[in-house]
Amino acid sequence: MIYDPSNIFSRILHNEAPCVRIWESSLTLAFMDVMPQADGHVLVIPKEAAGTIFDLSEHAAAACMATVQHVARAVQAALLPDGLLIAQLNGEAAGQTVGHVHFHIIPRWKDVPLRPHGKVPAAAAELESIAELIRGAF
Ligand code: AMP
Repeated sequence: MIYDPSNIFSRILHNEAPCVRIWESSLTLAFMDVMPQADGHVLVIPKEAAGTIFDLSEHAAAACMATVQHVARAVQAALLPDGLLIAQLNGEAAGQTVGHVHFHIIPRWKDVPLRPHGKVPAAAAELESIAELIRGAF
């Protein structure tokens, strides 16, 4: 994928757009999804400019997976979901809508259906209060 540096996650990485930050390392950033499919939906991105998993260096891929596991543990401890879905979409046909590689961490509760993908904005105050719970679980 040709990387377009004007994509929203690149702008977040360059502090040109806001995000509700959860965790940051030298190679990765985790923040709340603004249109969460479930409460506590977090995204993990590499700081490397890569559109898909195929474009990502092995080093950055390893860092992403370490951050995914670290954040998933905090989400699990903070929100006590019945299960936790981790997803990563590559290309439009797979449902990818933002051209900077990212991993979804989505808590699941029995009998609670997922909201549609990237469609229902959450209130800023609600995102912040869930983020605070997750941050408190590191
Ligand atoms: P994908 O369809 O896998 O590319 O996922 C993109 C995700 O980014 C969707 O879940 C969107 O809700 C989410 N998203 C889009 N814009 C933002 C943003 N500015 N901040 C946080 N999440 C976003």
